[in-house]
Order: sequence, then C-alpha cells, then structure tokens
Amino acid sequence: MPFKALNLSAPIVSALESKGYVQPTAVQQKAIPVILEGRDIFGSAQTGSGKTAAFALPLLQLMSSKPATHRGVRTLVLAPTRELALQIGDSFRDYGKHLGLKHVVIFGGVSQHAQTTQLRNGVSTIVATPGRLLDLMDQGFVKLNDIEFLVLDEADKMFDMGFIKDIKKIVAKVPAKRQTLFFSATLPPEIKQLAASLLRDPVTVEVQ
Ligand code: AMP
Repeated sequence: MPFKALNLSAPIVSALESKGYVQPTAVQQKAIPVILEGRDIFGSAQTGSGKTAAFALPLLQLMSSKPATHRGVRTLVLAPTRELALQIGDSFRDYGKHLGLKHVVIFGGVSQHAQTTQLRNGVSTIVATPGRLLDLMDQGFVKLNDIEFLVLDEADKMFDMGFIKDIKKIVAKVPAKRQTLFFSATLPPEIKQLAASLLRDPVTVEVQ
C-alpha cells in the first residue's frame, strides 16, 4: 500500500519520499485513516513500529487542511523523556517541511529562554515533557485553551516516571472538545484507567 492510498496530501507524501519511506508500517496503516476521521485512538505499539509518524502525519494533515482561526497552539504531544520529545519534534519538522507549520520542543534541564522565545513567536504544535511544560504554564508562557489535538506518547513510561499528577494538571487545561491519541507500549491496569478517563469512544489499535 502506498502512502497516497491513505489520503495523505501531496506535500506530505513528497516529504515522506525524501525520507526514503516506501510504504506505511502496520501501525501507520491502521491508525492514520482513523485519526483522519477525527476519532480518538487507544494504541499499543512499541518504539520502532513507526508510531511517531502514525500520529504526526495525520495531525499535520488535519492542521494544514483546516487552517487555524486563532494564533493559539493546536496540538500538544506529551512524552516521557527529552530524547523522545526531540525525536517527535524532528518528525513534525521533517514530515511537515512543506507545510509551514511551526513547533517547539519543551523539556527541563536547560535554560527556558529559547523555548519561551519560540512560544512567543507562535507555534501550532508543542512537544513536551510534563514537568517543564507545567512550569511554563504556571509562569504564563503557555496557554492550552485552543488545543484541538492531544497526544500522550509512551504513557506507561510517563506513569512509571511519576508524571501522572502533572499529566492530570495539564489535561485539565485542555478543552474537553478535542481529539485524543493515547499510545502505550504496555497496558497494565493503571494505564487502561488513565486512558478511559481521557478518551472518548476510542478505536483500539494494537500492533504486536
Ligand atoms: P518510531 O517507532 O516512531 O520511533 O519509528 C521508528 C523508525 O522508523 C524511525 O527512525 C522512523 O524514521 C522510521 N519510519 C517510520 N515510518 C517509516 C516508514 N513508513 N518506512 C520506513 N521507515 C519508517
């Protein structure tokens, strides 16, 4: 199956071609059409399965096909580590290179100055680890009231790292009317509960 069969737009397909991707992986084939339809997703997929593109591609497409009516942030991706957040940011940059959409990657352990400058200049997507994001929210640098798309990536790892309280505080500031994509490599009982509290009528996508 070529990427075009998933109804991805020409600028996105062209960016994938320049990455050398020939066809979508299993999680991409399952998740992309469902996300483009506007449905919530409860996905179990490992790192290495191509799950980043499985959510980044349709979100880029949805944002570019429906131009913003405001200057606020439209997509929030929460991830457990700086390394993963940076990788996700690179994916939004590479796959979206013909779309003119801006993103910022937010994580702790470094000066916040570069991050707040990017936020002030305006971004459509924030990719963040929960602790620093909450810190910048508390300082008034981040507003989440225009978020349309919320992604939790590697939710089990965020749970293990003790981010659950931070995640709940962050999600409380995101509008209830949103599309939520929830990914976890493993599905212990707490993760299923957390997912149930965040998702609305989700489609389950499992990739072994
Ligand atoms: P992820 O599971 O999102 O960490 O992706 C694993 C690796 O697969 C990354 O290096 C991606 O760049 C790469 N990748 C994602 N989708 C595809 C695809 N359809 N074809 C080839 N490589 C891919």
